[in-house]
Formats: sequence, structure tokens, C-alpha cells
Amino acid sequence: MKQLVCVSALTLALGWGGAATAVQSYEIPEETAQTARELMETALDSDLAYEIVESLTTEIGPRLAGSEAEARARAWGAKLGEELGFDVVEIEEFTMPFWDRGRMEITMTAPYDQALYGTALGGSGRSDGDIASQIVYFRDIHALTLVEDGALEGKIAFVDGEIMVASQVGAGYGAANQRRRIGWQHAERGGASALVVRSVGSDSRRFPHTGMMSSRDGDWADIPVIAISNPDADHLRRLHNLGESIELTLSSGAGWHGDVTSGNVVLDIVGRESPEEIVLIGGHLDSWDLGTGALDDGAGVAITVAAAQLISELPQRPRRTIRVVMFGAEEVGLLGARAYAGEHQDEIANHVLATESDFGARTVWQLVSNVNDDANPAVDAIGRLIAPLGIVRGGSDVPGGGPDIIPLAYSGVPTVRLNQNGLDYFDFHHTPDDTLDKIDPAELSQNVAAYAALVYLAAELDVEFRTTQSPEGASE
Ligand SMILES: [Zn+2]
Repeated sequence: MKQLVCVSALTLALGWGGAATAVQSYEIPEETAQTARELMETALDSDLAYEIVESLTTEIGPRLAGSEAEARARAWGAKLGEELGFDVVEIEEFTMPFWDRGRMEITMTAPYDQALYGTALGGSGRSDGDIASQIVYFRDIHALTLVEDGALEGKIAFVDGEIMVASQVGAGYGAANQRRRIGWQHAERGGASALVVRSVGSDSRRFPHTGMMSSRDGDWADIPVIAISNPDADHLRRLHNLGESIELTLSSGAGWHGDVTSGNVVLDIVGRESPEEIVLIGGHLDSWDLGTGALDDGAGVAITVAAAQLISELPQRPRRTIRVVMFGAEEVGLLGARAYAGEHQDEIANHVLATESDFGARTVWQLVSNVNDDANPAVDAIGRLIAPLGIVRGGSDVPGGGPDIIPLAYSGVPTVRLNQNGLDYFDFHHTPDDTLDKIDPAELSQNVAAYAALVYLAAELDVEFRTTQSPEGASE
């Protein structure tokens, strides 16, 4: 792959573009390009994003979806928006079912006593006192899906798997995640009294990784479902391979508690010429409750708020509105994202571009997009402008834009994404180890620089990112 890292502004004249689909060149007007370069320089010198994520993780702490802490985070977000001078600050509430993990214990009791490090998975059920049983070992989720109905009666199922291979793009997460998502459905079908799974993560530390399970047509597990740390899963595998009979004792207070209020915080920098046209960026405000949600996703909130704030300090507003959304209740099923798409149905067609930062806080290395073909040369030009930050242009047909953008993307909103280096993201993801010290302020500033330039240009340039022909069923 062609890689340009040390390039000067002169590369603008070279017409270099990483996207194979570029059929014509697009040149950013020099004055606009210069403003974008100055925004990048200002961002690289700014501590604002770090101050925001430090404030969120320290003053609010863990922010489980639907909790009292998430409500405090919304108030924090609205106050921040007001202090930073956003033109519009709104909290948009919605209702959601509330789950929490309660207290949990898990110990190996045979062939000898050893405490294990585990955590309940989101949506899992509670135990009526202690559950003590032999385990039935499954090498991977596929083996569990083949279990016969009723074959696990009175037993604890344990699903092994592999430690994720660390990768810049987080490869393998979706596949590894299956044991977390659907394992319970097969364990319950087999009649198991509990399910224990190997954590989904790339680390070898004794931190378990939590995360949401998948419902089955709206139904959730009645049994406790617990993820144990990778080293603990390794340990059980070795004992199993020695032919030992393994017994566990566990209890879990996890469960559902009825409907509560969550919400999204929406902050606008109103456009000077086409205020109805919206460039949407954001991150999610909720976090899992084991750590303080610094990487997932305090960083994303901080990066996008800081980028928009820097743009708001320009002598004039960009042509289009820049909207930062701090989404609520992402971790438990994109509930804030769905609520936003529903609430803003009548203006979805005015969302010209959307993207979310939700993959940690390491350096951005790639710009990918999914916009109308005629707009690709402009995205290529934006890619060339931010290339000095060490960012290469990736695919121009990559759907997505981030988890909370999915409902918008399904409605036809074009997306871009600034991909971060995810090499150690799944070491910390959804663990007690997701804390502020994992964020490097300089890497965070590089993110802000990339977002500030990208978002400013998307809001300022006269480029139509949407497809010119309306997709079937979309309005206007
Ligand atoms: Zn996230």
C-alpha cells in the first residue's frame, strides 16, 4: 500500500489519492484548506479533549446505561456544551429497560479451590443462592451450538475459545463475540444451570471482559452467564486436557429492574448558510460499569466535542450545522442511536454526513468512506489534507461510520470513519482496566486534529455527499 506520512501542503498539487475509484480531481479552495490546516495545528496544541475525558471519567465515573450515573453524565454533557459555547444544547430523553449486574462470585472447587475472576454479561439472569456443579467443557461456541436439548441438565456449561489476536483493525471481534452473544441460548436449551465463557479480549491479564448478550426475540437469559478472564480460561482448559473433573460454585445477582430514563445530549454549532444541513459526529456517553469508560467511549465524546469547539472559535460558522451527539445506552443495544433516528425522522434526509469515534484513543491511521461516487474526489482531497497527520486514505465503499451511526446509515445517511489504531483496544475493552491512564494526550490530540479538519471541510465545502437519487423508501 502506498503510504505517505511526511508530506507537506504541496501534496495538494500532486493529485495523490489512495482511492482507486477517484475518477476526477477535486481541489479544496486554498483559503478553506488553509483554515483546515490551522485547525489541525491548533488541535495538536490543545489539551481540551484530554480535559473533557478526564472530567467525565473522574467527576462522573462509570456510566452504566440507564443508571443514575448516566443521568449525571447527561447533565455534565449539557453543562459542558453550554460552557463551551455551543449554539444549541438539548437533552433528548427516552425510556429503556434497566439491567444491572449486582454481586457475583465464582470459584473453582474441584479438583481444588481457586478463586476465578469473572463478571456477569449484560442481560444475564440471577441465581437463587449458590449454584455448585461440575462443568461440561465446550472447545468453542460451535461445539455448544451442537448440544442436544436437555443434555446439560443440572450442569454448568463452560465455553472456551481463543484469545483474540491483537490487530490494528480489531479483526476477529465479531466472530469471538458469538460465545458472549448467543452462548446462553444454547446453554438454556441444553438445560444448563449456568453458563461460563472465556472473555472476549486480546489480553492475558486476569480481568474479565463484560458486554451485552443478544436477546432471542426480546427474551433474555434466565440463567447466570459469566465471562472469566483469559488466564482463568487457560487454566480450566489445561485441567480439562489433563482429564480432571472440574467443579465450580457461583452466584449472581444480575437482572432486570423495569423501565428507566436514558437520553442523548445533542450539541449544535449552527451553520451560517444552510443551517438545516447537518454534519453529525459523536461518541457514546454510557460505559460499562467495571472501569470508568475512558477508552469506551469517553475518548470519543471528548474528541468530537473538542473538534467542534475548535471549529466554533473560527471567525465565522461553517456553511452547514455541525451536530455533536453524546449517545446514551449504546452498550446495551444502540438504544440512544435508535431513539435519535426515531426522534429526528423528519430531518434524516438533511443529515449530509455522519461519523462516530468509538474505538479508543490511539492515533488515527486511515480515512474510509461510504458516500455518493461523485463525492469521492472531495473525500480524497480531504484525505490528502489530513495525510500529514499520518492518515492514509482507505476504502471508499466501507459502510458504517461507527455503531451509533448504523440506524442513520440504514436510512441512507452517508458516512466516513477515521479509523484508530486498535492494536491494544481489546486488551482493555469492557474491563476494569478501561481507565484514563490508558489515554496518551498526544495521540488524543492527533484525533482531534483529524476530526476538526474533516468535520470543518464537510460542513464548509459545497459537496453533496448524499446519493443524488433517493433510495427506495427514503424521503426526498
Ligand atoms: Zn463503545
